[in-house]
Amino acid sequence: MKILVTGGAGFIVSAVVRHVIEETRHSVVNVDKLTYAGNLASVASVSGDPRYRFEHVDICDRSSLVRVFAEHQPDAIMHLAAESFVDRSVDVPAAFIQTNLVGTYVLLEVARDYWAELDSDRQGKFRFHHISTDEVYGDLGASAGAFDESAAYAPSSPYAASKAGSDHLVRAWQRTYRLPTLITNCSNNYGPCQYPEKLIPLTILNALAGKPLPVYGDGDQIRDWLYVEDHVRALLQLIVDATPGETYNIGGNCEMKNLDVVQQVCDLLENSATARPAGVDRYADLITFVQDRPGHDRRYAVDSRKVEQEFGWTARTPFDKGLQQTVDWYVANGDWCRAVMQNA
Ligand code: NAD
Repeated sequence: MKILVTGGAGFIVSAVVRHVIEETRHSVVNVDKLTYAGNLASVASVSGDPRYRFEHVDICDRSSLVRVFAEHQPDAIMHLAAESFVDRSVDVPAAFIQTNLVGTYVLLEVARDYWAELDSDRQGKFRFHHISTDEVYGDLGASAGAFDESAAYAPSSPYAASKAGSDHLVRAWQRTYRLPTLITNCSNNYGPCQYPEKLIPLTILNALAGKPLPVYGDGDQIRDWLYVEDHVRALLQLIVDATPGETYNIGGNCEMKNLDVVQQVCDLLENSATARPAGVDRYADLITFVQDRPGHDRRYAVDSRKVEQEFGWTARTPFDKGLQQTVDWYVANGDWCRAVMQNA
């Protein structure tokens, strides 16, 4: 299969790209605009492979996308390119509307025209897989059961609203035009190559630099954590095996308070061989409570039983192990961190 991925220089998709080249026989075309969050260093280990191609293209640029589809003739689309950081969406929502809504619309239209011209065998196998977030479901009460695929959408932030809107577009293109789509909504991913504005890499890098470790409000917000490699396995299984029109929630079955995540990162750093910054007795002393984000949801959790029962997929990586691997990766990859932060 030749898979066209969007956003392949970002966190999750770079893991998809590395996995496809290292673990499968598929080819991959990486379409990325290279915003501040995209860095080709994340795919450097596989970029010399003949099954990998890069296209420096904005998904809002229709004519360039038409050229890319015609030239590469993909069998499937995995769409992840997005503005993805909630805090930035609060400050500058326009970029989120443009890429997440308009960009998804443009990509859907280009894919629909391309798909309509395929022969019936390739049409039947074609997939447009849209990767979305658990944040579309909004705030989950403290004692409520996790969101399943039938839960109503109630996004709270401009980011979540733009992703919810893009999910609706994808579902409508399936229903109206019969474009064979899939939607997956996953919980918070963590792992190597995540841009250091998100909670876990920010905490690691600030701690190593002896800077404050910001925690919103009381730190009691609960998120479900999924190791990125587990997510990638689910995506690659679903794009091959799932029935068009379906939606799947993908979670790690690992709900944690933000403060506990930050504390655990500090504990792992205490036990690592890394030299503690001057003047820091304990990494946890750097924890600093800051004013809460407006509209901040208290809890997210998704029920992944559908993907588990239909495909036998489970999140295999325990949080302790995944977090240790993540901390080790950031400690060992200072060059990557410095390179991506230059784009900030
Ligand atoms: P990321 O911010 O790390 O990477 C996004 C990538 O998209 C970057 O390489 C960027 O250059 C590219 N991009 C942005 N705008 C573009 C445009 N207009 N055209 C082409 N490329 C563009 O994102 P991520 O954390 O890897 O998330 C990937 C997807 O997964 C997003 O759609 C996000 O909503 C979804 N998601 C992420 C998480 C998570 O925990 N990271 C959780 C649930 C869902």
